[in-house]
Amino acid sequence: MTRALTETDMNRKLIAGNWKMNGGLSANQALVSAMLAGIGQPAADVALCVPAPYLAQIQGLLQGSPMAWGAQDVSVHEQGAYTGEVSVSMLKDFGCRYAIVGHSERRQYHGESDAVVAAKAQRALAGGVTPIVCVGETLAEREAGETETVVRRQLAAVIHTVGHCITEIVVAYEPVWAIGTGKTATPEMAQAVHAVLRAQLAAATNNPKRVHILYGGSMNAANAASLLAQPDIDGGLIGGASLKAADFLSIVAAAV
Ligand code: PEP
Repeated sequence: MTRALTETDMNRKLIAGNWKMNGGLSANQALVSAMLAGIGQPAADVALCVPAPYLAQIQGLLQGSPMAWGAQDVSVHEQGAYTGEVSVSMLKDFGCRYAIVGHSERRQYHGESDAVVAAKAQRALAGGVTPIVCVGETLAEREAGETETVVRRQLAAVIHTVGHCITEIVVAYEPVWAIGTGKTATPEMAQAVHAVLRAQLAAATNNPKRVHILYGGSMNAANAASLLAQPDIDGGLIGGASLKAADFLSIVAAAV
């Protein structure tokens, strides 16, 4: 029987694919078919965050399957004269469960500030979509010993804006230097930052509900198990490896 996809299960890991600006109607069909053929009943929650034009297609392909779907961004505005933007109610129309917000590529190439990212997270929550809030330091910041300060500042903006709803978000720690580079944080490096974020979340709420903190940054079939074995790593946000069914399914299988 298919699980009801209504609420993120706090005891299960979450593996979310981020296709970024990749795909096409026939390629998506082939990729998703291969994933569905191999996914069975996963021990983890699984989702694909796809380019907005393909949401209707992905909804059609994944409806009734063990996989949820989502978007890679959401507008800070509810509706109106914001050419090119996609609102959270539009995402809801296509059954989105998640929206990535504050991915480093949006912070870097689209100038998204901590305040904008926090406002997007708030808008997603208000519209019933779970924001996957990305935080992470650049290589220069890591080498300057600023990793903790940077990720705490990025998360603090979201905590400040969404208040007690912070337990409803998903956090993704994505060191910028590890994204799409093949360089992965060691499990120990990732765990150290996840522990910082866990403590910050705990201090912000009295709610014992465990917020999912995903790791992202060149996670692949070979390194997933050791990263996912860390006590504060609750899943993965997967870029490149989510474009290959076998690799993505191996990561899902490692998320036990
Ligand atoms: C990402 O884009 O969120 C990501 C983690 O990419 P990759 O897995 O390719 O490093």
